[in-house]
Amino acid sequence: NPNASFTKDVLLSQKFLTQQQLIQGAVLHPASMEQALKLVLDSAETEDSFFVADIRDFFNQFDTWVKHIPRVKPFFAVKSNPDPVLISILASLGTGFDCASKSEIKQILDLGISPDRIIYAHPCKPSSHLSYAYSKNVDLMTFDNSDELYKMKKLAPNARAVLRVSTDDSNSLCRLSLKFGAPMDTTHDLLTTAKKLGVNVVGVSFHVGSGCHDDSAFIDALSRARTVFDQAEDLGFNLSLLDIGGGFPSPKEKQGAKFSNIAANINSTLDKLFPPSLGINIISEPGRFFCSSAYSLAVNITSKRTVSSAPQTLTEVKNDIKNSEEPSFMYYINEGVYGSFNCIMFDHQIVYPEILVNDGEFVYDNPCEQSQIEKRFESSIWGPTCDSIDCVVANTKIPELFVGDWLLFQNLGAYSRSAASKFNGFESSTVFYYDSQQTKKC
Ligand code: PLP
Repeated sequence: NPNASFTKDVLLSQKFLTQQQLIQGAVLHPASMEQALKLVLDSAETEDSFFVADIRDFFNQFDTWVKHIPRVKPFFAVKSNPDPVLISILASLGTGFDCASKSEIKQILDLGISPDRIIYAHPCKPSSHLSYAYSKNVDLMTFDNSDELYKMKKLAPNARAVLRVSTDDSNSLCRLSLKFGAPMDTTHDLLTTAKKLGVNVVGVSFHVGSGCHDDSAFIDALSRARTVFDQAEDLGFNLSLLDIGGGFPSPKEKQGAKFSNIAANINSTLDKLFPPSLGINIISEPGRFFCSSAYSLAVNITSKRTVSSAPQTLTEVKNDIKNSEEPSFMYYINEGVYGSFNCIMFDHQIVYPEILVNDGEFVYDNPCEQSQIEKRFESSIWGPTCDSIDCVVANTKIPELFVGDWLLFQNLGAYSRSAASKFNGFESSTVFYYDSQQTKKC
């Protein structure tokens, strides 16, 4: 029973958590996000930013997946968030893992997860990473070009190869097919080369792009996969695996395609092109779907600058022109685009600040009261580094805040901590876990 197995003791004994992260048993007892935030804020002695992560959300997302796309087994894309707590819970639920490098593979194997639950889903692999994977019995891997086929033949001769095809990802925020995926006019030649070399091609994969805004993108991609299955069959291959990649949205995303619509399109297209009677093993590589919504980031306002409404230019001074009636504020926080907010740059994420502590008072548990605060000011929110590109929110209208106050950013579990740097000496934020089980949702 996975719901019962992630107690404080288990998490501690498996060294997923430090004592410090188990602030007042936040993970042990059912708690709302508000309670978890309060616990950490009350007990933390520093101003350091921190994440709170709801482990219940991992279970809920898994249930949602199974309910909507039961034919497709998820292989969680480790790159999106390699948090060992998340990975261990997903492993306990039976998912596989999409790894893209030696160290991602090592992380999964070190957690005791079997190599046959890994797909090495990088079509252009460094030789040393490929040799490592193969030596550890990770033999399911993608390719999309003939040089990779020669490399695989030499270093991983009995690998189970998966041909990744390009997709029309013009409606996705992160267009992965600009870099990876065999164009459709090359797939026949690639399969012919594989046949000649004796590479064991077992399946086809694709990725519709991350942050996909088109819920029909999978329909076209699946029909491309069907074409390649047919080409392979003509050449004497007997393909048994279809990998439909990632690109599934988080439930908290405000824009873009809805998961339920995407799932409905996938199910009906699979039934047409890859009916269950064919016995094809169908997998996927979701990343953000499993990790984004559980994590919220609390950041401290470390500095503030009031931008005067006084005239700025000589002409304005001469003509006594005021820029606006009100001052505006620049807030400096202790996470930025070189840290966990790198998703703004690399993942095109739009982030929304919510007020957690205002003028020293915890206000998050009363959003109604917050929304009644009428006096709002033009504000911008900046990361901690010395760089002016380090802007988290360029323009927002919020009540006035003060140094020492806290903001919260939700839906920040994907491509955030995993790509955070320590530029300028700023450490990445710690994660505190809680379990919202039994919490009443309003
Ligand atoms: N698989 C591959 C090969 C990827 O490159 C990515 C993301 O870049 C993913 C899966 C995960 O994508 P997403 O987080 O959009 O589900």
